[in-house]
Amino acid sequence: LRTPVIAGNWKMNKNRAEAKALLEELCPLVKDAGCGVVVCVPFTDLETALAATAGTNVKVGAQNCHFETSGAFTGEIAADMLAEMGVEYVVLGHSERRQYFAETDETVNLRTKAALAAGLKPIVCVGELLAQREQGITAEVVSLQTKVALQGIDAEGLRSIIIAYEPVWAIGTGKTATAEQAGEVCAVIRATVAGLYGEEAASHLVVQYGGSMNAGNAAELLAQPDVDGGLIGGASLKADAFSQIVEAA
Ligand code: 13P
Repeated sequence: LRTPVIAGNWKMNKNRAEAKALLEELCPLVKDAGCGVVVCVPFTDLETALAATAGTNVKVGAQNCHFETSGAFTGEIAADMLAEMGVEYVVLGHSERRQYFAETDETVNLRTKAALAAGLKPIVCVGELLAQREQGITAEVVSLQTKVALQGIDAEGLRSIIIAYEPVWAIGTGKTATAEQAGEVCAVIRATVAGLYGEEAASHLVVQYGGSMNAGNAAELLAQPDVDGGLIGGASLKADAFSQIVEAA
């Protein structure tokens, strides 16, 4: 029904030489993967990553894009600029962008629409803060983030979108959500999408889990019926760890 996708989010790590070395080690290790494999790299590594993965099954993504197509937006990168390079995916609305760079559900929605218009596949991140989980409002928070991110996007657009559930308290903390917690919230996301687009469309949506996912816990998380892959931070920076997660999918 759904082919899982394992995506690495390198965040602000790896210079060009390091990127090349990592991908040269990674590509042969994942060449027989039964899932999609994506590396989302810093803008400055995109060209290197595209060259190093050419002719392989490893796809390249960026970590953000702007919602305007061009203009006076110093420091931003347009979706078309990425697409023109041959970039296929783009991470949008990561909690670090929301926390440190003031992104909102609304700007995530605008960026998602811009990415789709450029032919990119958005990996849209949603997830609750620890305080929200403790208040028992995780499902409401994640469902609302999902709805706003998808506002104005039709069923055809949805087919190109991956949603990544990343509980903010699990990112980079070594605290993984339990498989049950991850499965439960990924199911909430799918139900939210089913409410908007129907069961059939929702059944094809890839919903990833992200947050301290590693070679040791990946299999259990991925065994959850509504978890269709992972968005991997720290463990994507080493070829052996990342390839083991790919194998678990
Ligand atoms: P870690 O895997 O380092 O917890 O990061 C998860 C993440 O934020 C991926 O986007």
